[in-house]
Amino acid sequence: MKRLLTRLFAALAFCIVSGTAGSPAATPPDRQVAITIDDLPAGAANSMSTAAITEMTSKLLATLQQQKIPVVGFVNEDKLYKLGEVDERIKALNMWLDSGFDLGNHTYGHISLNRAGLKDFEESVVRGETVTKLLLAQRKKTLRYFRYPYLDTGRDLQTRRDADAFLVARGYRLAHVTLDAWDWAFSRVYDDAKKRGDTAVQQEIANAYLSYSAAVFEYDEKLSRDLIGYEPKQILLLHANQLEADHIGELLELLRKRGYRFITLEDALSDQAYGMPDTYVGEEGTGWLERWAITRGRPPLGAPVFPPAIAERSKGQLLPARRRLLPPSNREELCDGSIRRTAPSTNNSLDHLGSRHVARLID
Ligand SMILES: [Zn+2]
Repeated sequence: MKRLLTRLFAALAFCIVSGTAGSPAATPPDRQVAITIDDLPAGAANSMSTAAITEMTSKLLATLQQQKIPVVGFVNEDKLYKLGEVDERIKALNMWLDSGFDLGNHTYGHISLNRAGLKDFEESVVRGETVTKLLLAQRKKTLRYFRYPYLDTGRDLQTRRDADAFLVARGYRLAHVTLDAWDWAFSRVYDDAKKRGDTAVQQEIANAYLSYSAAVFEYDEKLSRDLIGYEPKQILLLHANQLEADHIGELLELLRKRGYRFITLEDALSDQAYGMPDTYVGEEGTGWLERWAITRGRPPLGAPVFPPAIAERSKGQLLPARRRLLPPSNREELCDGSIRRTAPSTNNSLDHLGSRHVARLID
């Protein structure tokens, strides 16, 4: 009996230790993050009715407003042009400003600088300003921020520098990304489950998204400390989709439990980290922690594994495309067939380019 009690006690002690070790709930450090949301008015705008976009926007913004979260939303104006519904779609965009949020440019047609030439990219930047600039001007605000679609910043350093210089000359600040749990990948299967009215699967996908987010945040926090000695003011990339509309409250709670306070993008960008050298070029866009690491010749390893169950569900929807698209040097295939993200290489091999862009056309 005594031995049994001893073993039980030992097991209990182990549970307590393992349950608290690394747990953000214990004593979370003071962390800061800016929330950014891309692909406005909706990532899936082309396959959504305007009424559905308005409803989704309303739900998403209600949570953000209630919790007083500063947000910059990045717009693709081509998504506004649906015959007979343009005014309503512009109204959906206006809801962001009415709710006190800011808007930035994400190019007119979600164009990849790695795929398009610099001239086409620049045209898409300018064309993407038309409505957004007007809506901001009505509130005496200016268009200040730009986010590269797919985080593609050019396949060579000269193109990258030219594009950056063009954007800066037009008055933009570049919106970096340091936290990214690929919500777009979960949102596709979530939308599919929602259309079928399958609430159990929706919940399963939401849970997987939140778990993966927690793993990604922990990984990126450690990468920050290992790389630059502290955790900078982070910038989280999300997308305007139904998954976020339904579950962003839980994501914000998860961030709070890790010690995060929510700050403006302007505040985040004031962190000295964003002035660090970054000479990354590559076929695959990636976050800035990886870019800084690669610039220093220390490509990071051991990123969390994307949930195999979600990848499995996505079969036939081109969802795992981006994973397939990563060049072989950028991924590790695990024994269960799942794929672990690793840092993209700086090697500009073009052999994977064709399939990547076919799949990314719907990204
Ligand atoms: Zn985007």
